[in-house]
Amino acid sequence: MKPPAPPGCWQPAYIGVGSNLRDPLQQVQNAFESLSALPEVRVVRRSRLYRSPPMGPPDQPDYVNAVAAVLTRSPARMLLEALKSIERAQGREAEPVRWGPRIIDLDLLVYGLHHVDEAGLTVPHRGIAERDFVLRPLADVSPLLEVPGLGRVSTLLARLPAGALQVIDGAH
Ligand code: AMP
Repeated sequence: MKPPAPPGCWQPAYIGVGSNLRDPLQQVQNAFESLSALPEVRVVRRSRLYRSPPMGPPDQPDYVNAVAAVLTRSPARMLLEALKSIERAQGREAEPVRWGPRIIDLDLLVYGLHHVDEAGLTVPHRGIAERDFVLRPLADVSPLLEVPGLGRVSTLLARLPAGALQVIDGAH
C-alpha cells in the first residue's frame, strides 16, 4: 500500500455524487458548486447527470447520480472529511436504513493510484465495478481511467448488464 500523498502534491481523484430527496437535481448541482469552492480541490470535469433506480429498499424515489473529476492536494482522509462537511451542510443526517433515501451522498471513488483500507475509508470505493450509476458517469469524465486493482472503466462498464440508467443532463 502506498503512503498517503504529502500535502501540496496534486492528485487526480474522482468523486461520486448522488441524491434522491428534496430536489435531487439541485442537490447534485449544489454539491458540485461546493466541491469547486474547496480550496484544496479543482473540479476538472463533471459527468452528465443520470436518473437511476434505487439500489437499496425499492420504496424510495429514483436517484440522480453524477461524478466529478478533480485535482486535489488534500490527503485522501482530509478530502473525505471535506465531502462529509458538504453532506452535512446540505442537511444530510444519518439514515435509519442502509441504502435508504438521502439528501446527498458524496463518495471518494478513486484517489490517484492509491489503495486505502482503514477504518472509515476504503479507496477505491467498494462496489465501483458492480454499479452502473457510478461507472457510466465515470466513463463520461475518464473512460480510459484504470481503477487501481480493478481495471479500465470502459472494460468494467462493458461487463455490466444493461441497466435502467437514463441521462438527464449533459457533461461540463
Ligand atoms: P455513505 O452511506 O455512502 O455516505 O457511507 C458511509 C460511510 O462510508 C462514511 O461514514 C465513510 O466513512 C465510509 N466510507 C468508506 N470509504 C469511503 C469512501 N471511499 N468514500 C466515502 N465514504 C467512505
